[in-house]
Amino acid sequence: MHPCLTCGACCAHYRVSLHWSEAEPSLGGTTPVRFTEPCGPHLLAMRGTWQAKPHCVALIGAVGKAGGCSIYAQRPSPCRELKAAWEDGSPSAQCERARLAHGLPALGPQDWPLAKPVAA
Ligand code: SF4
Ligand code: SF4
Repeated sequence: MHPCLTCGACCAHYRVSLHWSEAEPSLGGTTPVRFTEPCGPHLLAMRGTWQAKPHCVALIGAVGKAGGCSIYAQRPSPCRELKAAWEDGSPSAQCERARLAHGLPALGPQDWPLAKPVAA
């Protein structure tokens, strides 16, 4: 099983901010605006992530048990860009920090047994 499906830590650790156009259909934006709130002159934040203890409203399930994004296909660019550590053969400080903050072990290459080795 993909480690993100039993995690969700990054969705409950960081403020997820995005340009308002990502939630503007007339400009090609796909993120549902109802899941966002203004957080700056040109920025929105995913609701729930701009608070002392972030927890995105789109996150389904308990962190560390069954993390899932209810708007996966429409998630904003910061979520698309945050890579799970070692999925592509390289570390991810953001993934590691979020997991450790939730008491989860950092991922390592051993968590991707089916991944192809990175060419030297
Ligand atoms: S913290 Fe890492 S493993 Fe967990 S959901 Fe985010 S990218 Fe996936
Ligand atoms: S939009 Fe989805 S992937 Fe992004 S923080 Fe929220 S639950 Fe996580």
